[in-house]
Amino acid sequence: MRLILLGPPGAGKGTQAQRLVQNHGIVQLSTGDMLRAAVAAQTPTGLIAKDIMASGGLVPDEVVVSIIADRIEQGDARNGFILDGFPRTVPQAEALDALLKKKKLKLDAVIELRVNESALLARVEKRVAEMLERGESVRADDTPEVLSKRLSNYRAQTEPLVHHYSDKRKLITIDGMMPIEGVTAEIERVLAAVTKADETTQAAKHKVATKRAAGPSKRAASPSKARKAAKGAKKAAKGTAKKAKSKRVVKKAAKKATKKVAKKAVKKGTKKVSKSSSVTRGASRKKAVKAAGNRTGRAVKAAAGRGRKAAKKVAKRPSKAAKRLTKRR
Ligand code: ADP
Repeated sequence: MRLILLGPPGAGKGTQAQRLVQNHGIVQLSTGDMLRAAVAAQTPTGLIAKDIMASGGLVPDEVVVSIIADRIEQGDARNGFILDGFPRTVPQAEALDALLKKKKLKLDAVIELRVNESALLARVEKRVAEMLERGESVRADDTPEVLSKRLSNYRAQTEPLVHHYSDKRKLITIDGMMPIEGVTAEIERVLAAVTKADETTQAAKHKVATKRAAGPSKRAASPSKARKAAKGAKKAAKGTAKKAKSKRVVKKAAKKATKKVAKKAVKKGTKKVSKSSSVTRGASRKKAVKAAGNRTGRAVKAAAGRGRKAAKKVAKRPSKAAKRLTKRR
């Protein structure tokens, strides 16, 4: 889980961050703590940050961004982290967006702890008193004067992040005026809802991806569509059968007509043969018969042609048989 805690100084970010560490096994990345460590160790970064921090100002963006970029890389942050005190400006937020995008890491939520400003001074004073009681050294910036500067910095530079993250639909605002336990319970309740919503989205995405991988789906036809399709098919089949039957009838009629005409022609040809045999005196009967046969062949051919014509005519107007068949159906 990757979270950001947002809120003015004294809002309770540090306290809630520690509870989140315990409950979720993630690390707390506090730029304030890191910078204080750098100041104590007198590193180059510490030397830059020391006076700025003591006066309640903000350390340059590029310094804190590079600290966070390195820290996120470390093994203990792989499981998730809570950013406490970072980002503090819009450019820092944009740098973080780019960083996470580059590393293909998702930000789960930004938790804003909202508190009455009037309560903040009292809270910081209480914290100072407790630290002194424990014999701890007090932060140089935990004085009423510096606190008011930190607060005005928060309003001017950090509060715009509320819009940045609400636009990204990541913002969760919690009432930071509740007792510590109540704030923790509310954070946990909201985080559980965020996790559940994420799981649902992931499951839906997985379903879509699986469907896509399986190829284009054949949509099941609705019962009414199926009925319509069946009706159409039946009609088409009937039409084809009708056509086939009427074709058969036409063929039969054509055959009949051809036969009739041919028979007539043969009869005529034979008559001619007998006539010629009597007329062509001196010619052999064989030759006469052949000639007559040729004439008969031509006559038969012509008759066949006439027969086909007649058949075509018959085909054009449905025969009685065809009419009968159509009527019966
Ligand atoms: P606070 O309790 O005011 O939130 P922090 O411990 O987070 O204080 O930070 C202490 C100081 O460290 C800040 O006042 C600021 O000078 C410096 N600092 C911490 N984080 C950042 C940051 N992200 N950008 C710039 N300065 C920072």
